[in-house]
Amino acid sequence: MKMRWGASTDAGMVRTQNEDSYSAEHGIFVVADGMGGHNAGEVASALAVTTVKAGARLGLDDAAEFRELVQQANTAIYTASLDDSAQRGMGTTLAAATVLPGEAPVMMVANVGDSRVYLHRDGRLVRISVDHSYVQELVNEGVLTAEEARVHPRRNIVTRALGIDRHVAVDVFLQEVRTGDRLLLCSDGLVDEVSDAQIQTLMTRHSDPQELAEVLVMVANSNGGHDNTTVIVVDILDDISEPVNRPVPDHTAPLEELADAASRGWRRIPVGAALFWALVVTVVLSGITLTGVYARSGWFIGFDENDRVAIYRGRPGGVLWFEPTIDTVTGLAGDVLPEDIMRDVALNRTFSSPGQARTYLDFVEIAVVGTTTTTVPGSATTTTAGG
Ligand code: MN
Repeated sequence: MKMRWGASTDAGMVRTQNEDSYSAEHGIFVVADGMGGHNAGEVASALAVTTVKAGARLGLDDAAEFRELVQQANTAIYTASLDDSAQRGMGTTLAAATVLPGEAPVMMVANVGDSRVYLHRDGRLVRISVDHSYVQELVNEGVLTAEEARVHPRRNIVTRALGIDRHVAVDVFLQEVRTGDRLLLCSDGLVDEVSDAQIQTLMTRHSDPQELAEVLVMVANSNGGHDNTTVIVVDILDDISEPVNRPVPDHTAPLEELADAASRGWRRIPVGAALFWALVVTVVLSGITLTGVYARSGWFIGFDENDRVAIYRGRPGGVLWFEPTIDTVTGLAGDVLPEDIMRDVALNRTFSSPGQARTYLDFVEIAVVGTTTTTVPGSATTTTAGG
């Protein structure tokens, strides 16, 4: 069985670094989407791709071996993250595909996370891998449709990733392949920006796999390019009629250089399935504590007992037994306020920080008095807000 393939990757229009890695060599195709600060995302995705590529060169005979190989990649990343505090918590998705040749060739697909493998056959695009993501769980439960999941604000939360825990569950899918089939491996940067319907259209429009890979990345970028995008396209060819593949260079980061690179922010947080449910239980058990945190987390303005405008900490009217407390009393008296501001104060306009409340009142004071008056710290005694 002959194959021809192409690959393309890009950091996108927003991010400065590309934490995706891929390899398309020796009959094994791998896409990994790394996550973690201090360049750890690149390290994790490069380790995953390097490990799987090296193992696959020794030969893969069945699904169990494929699964074992991906688990080795998990161990490599997990161990590296324990060895270097800058890489603690790093992780990566992995989507890999390889074809077992024979009378009836079979494609093996391994998946952890939300990078994907698709099969394009007879003009139809079918998803082979199933995402390990928060929104996919909601789709499974019938809460979201696939299209709603694609644009959901929490769509980037993965429930499984390599490198997070000592052990990882790896899904392996088997799919018979035929001449004329086309495989697509991609990171979520593609599917976030380009719908399955759009991908399907472009699939039929571009016959050259390298050209298609580049076009898909380009379209993801022109649709916003909010994330790194990586695409591998593999054509299953008739044995004799087609030329062999041109070389496709890997995209994996040089691991040594990355180790000491500067710190960057976290891109997204991997949440293991077990951790996810542990969190759910914790949230339920600590409901009262959280209510207290919520009750004390806001800021609002109101009139104190002496009809002075004051900044309160807490929630208007209080929550359960958590009453708001006075943070600052201003020199503003209720009777000098214009009607719209009077209404704001009486209705306890809320702010997310005391600074925001003060800025708002500074403007009011300038408008009303023509100058900023000094504020006096309020008492710490519990009081009830209201006009
Ligand atoms: Mn991504």
